[in-house]
Amino acid sequence: MQIPDIIIAIDGYSSTGKSSFAKIVANEFSFLYLDSGALYRGVTLFAIENGFITEDCKIDIAGLDKALEDLDIHFGPDGTYIGDRCIEKEIRSLTVANKVSPIATVAEVRRFVDRKLREFGEKKRIVMDGRDIGTTVFPEAEIKIFMTADPMVRAERRAAEMRAKGEDVNIEDVLKNLQERDYIDSHREVSPLSKADDAIVLDNSHMTIDEQLVWLKEIISERFGC
Ligand code: C5P
Repeated sequence: MQIPDIIIAIDGYSSTGKSSFAKIVANEFSFLYLDSGALYRGVTLFAIENGFITEDCKIDIAGLDKALEDLDIHFGPDGTYIGDRCIEKEIRSLTVANKVSPIATVAEVRRFVDRKLREFGEKKRIVMDGRDIGTTVFPEAEIKIFMTADPMVRAERRAAEMRAKGEDVNIEDVLKNLQERDYIDSHREVSPLSKADDAIVLDNSHMTIDEQLVWLKEIISERFGC
């Protein structure tokens, strides 16, 4: 299927399978996949390692903002990097997951990440997933999808993913983390998670990834006549 040079924005709640879906979509249409959450996670790891956030989530906003001026965070062959250090494993840990939403409420952090994301988007033909891609980062995106799924289904999927990577987690902790992140993400002042008016809802609680792709291809085919 040949589709025009567009931006596909995928937003939604935590662990609804946004990134798995976005990767399949990117692969299907030969688009570039960009994971905006990875940048928020990377900034969070940086903040933890450099003492800009305390155990009880107090953030040194001025210090972090200044340090971000020199932060070289980017995507590379194995995922997300700070300089030449691959941080992909660390940013997926529960330690980072538990602090990322508070960090993502900070306006200075959002400005830093938004700037990077928009640079990546200049080329079009991208699929980007996150919380505010269709509302704030690329409000002009031609296709906007808002993903949701039953919380327990999401927690089970995320726990399985973490266990497969060798992390010892229990389902209650994962569910609690998802619900806390959903709450903070939806209630923050700057760019809260919300469905763009022109986004299409995808509830994938009972859908395979192949079914989701078929669903999207039908929408694209109707919209662009391809
Ligand atoms: O997508 P992922 O779960 O990796 O995102 C981690 C966190 O980063 C989210 O819970 C949210 O707090 C933040 N985030 C955001 N805006 C985005 C992407 C992620 O606030 N566009």
